[in-house]
Amino acid sequence: MKKKYSIFNIARNAFSNHENWQKMWRSPEPKKNYDVIIIGGGGHGLGTAYYLAKEHGLTNIAVIEKGWLGGGNTGRNTTIIRSNYLWDESANLYEHSLKLWEGLTHDLNYNVMFSQRGVMNLAHTEHDIKEIKRRVSANTLNGIDSKWISKEEIKKLVPIMNTDNLRYPVLGASFQPRGGTARHDTVAWGYAMRADEMGVDIIQNCEVHKILTENGKVIGVETSKGIIQSKKVGVVASGHTSVLAESAGIRLPLQSKPLQALVSEPIKPVIDTVVMSNAVHAYVSQSDKGELVIGAGTDGYNSFTQRGGFDVVENTIRAMVELYPVFGKMKMLRQWGGIVDISPDASPIISKCDIQGLYFNCGWGTGGFKATPGSANVFAHTVAKNEPHSINAAFSLDRFVSGKLVDEHGAAAVAH
Ligand SMILES: Cc1cc2nc3c(=O)[nH]c(=O)nc-3n(C[C@H](O)[C@H](O)[C@H](O)COP(=O)(O)OP(=O)(O)OC[C@H]3O[C@@H](n4cnc5c(N)ncnc54)[C@H](O)[C@@H]3O)c2cc1C
Repeated sequence: MKKKYSIFNIARNAFSNHENWQKMWRSPEPKKNYDVIIIGGGGHGLGTAYYLAKEHGLTNIAVIEKGWLGGGNTGRNTTIIRSNYLWDESANLYEHSLKLWEGLTHDLNYNVMFSQRGVMNLAHTEHDIKEIKRRVSANTLNGIDSKWISKEEIKKLVPIMNTDNLRYPVLGASFQPRGGTARHDTVAWGYAMRADEMGVDIIQNCEVHKILTENGKVIGVETSKGIIQSKKVGVVASGHTSVLAESAGIRLPLQSKPLQALVSEPIKPVIDTVVMSNAVHAYVSQSDKGELVIGAGTDGYNSFTQRGGFDVVENTIRAMVELYPVFGKMKMLRQWGGIVDISPDASPIISKCDIQGLYFNCGWGTGGFKATPGSANVFAHTVAKNEPHSINAAFSLDRFVSGKLVDEHGAAAVAH
């Protein structure tokens, strides 16, 4: 039965001390055989299962997660959502996603706390100005709401910003009003709940050790709960995708690196938009609880530890305090890392491969949260139809052979 969240439900459950809420999803033992197995219970994997069931009528699906839902990068990111990418291919993909974000709470009947408070990308040098203005023009041609704003307009939007008295002065910015943030784990939970209602088995605490193949075709996976068969396997395991691919004999062009973030103690509202600076590497928004949510950069080396180098956080804090001197006396509460999978052109891979029935959705690097609904939606199409959706055709693996890369280093790179 579809779980509904309403004021009446909250009131009714308050009378029984909230002990009688229905479980959001079941915890079934894995069956022997599924039509589709999705490896990875992050937003992208759970969303893929949801759209496979909702739009393609496939419900005999297992989502296999080695830990808990959203415990990977989905629950570790700084939740910035925008679609102001340079190239048409990326703009189409991220804008498809942004449009789905705009209806997601309604679609899932579950509040993903999507807040369109706008996203600003600061320019600090002549080169930044040229690059950002070029991107604004490209966005405008693609119907994306991006505009150039002056230093004076920035000051009106973020009065606490120090624009002049710093090593890299603020010279202007791009601004996308429809960009913003969402509450990360609700996205995983919302997709999980609705996919479960349609019959999808969500299997947590089950690690996939190996992708099993026979005569060039996928036949299932070997897991910590035994072998599970399927003729279709979708790998959506972010930083661990290359390891899983290797178990099937495939070498993906991905590097896995720790990316860090941190949050401050909660304070009263001081910043009601998202501000990003590639040049000095500081990103900030304020959560509904009042914490400053700050994004740092990746480490300079590959690693699978979910924490990063101290020097990276130190640099970010230095940049933050220079840009917002008022933050200088604040205490930081938590700091963490996630393993991001970075492709050579800083664009994702949403693709089938040479092994029949094996599909990959990865390479989102530092910026895949914003893509969650769009990526899941077109990946479900790719898996169901065994061919790419027109939106993800450019993001196939063969671009690394043909050289037709979608180079988004300016718009993606270390930026979220
Ligand atoms: C600190 C940080 C800040 C970020 N900030 C932003 C941002 O502001 N905006 C933005 O758009 N993006 C951001 N990102 C990137 C974004 O978080 C990711 O691109 C996105 O969440 C990836 O989602 P996913 O579902 O593919 O991966 P994940 O959520 O990582 O899910 C993959 C799942 O696969 C599971 N798994 C792995 N191996 C196995 C296995 N062998 N068997 C079973 N399960 C397995 C993992 O446990 C994990 O739960 C940030 C990332 C980090 C780390």
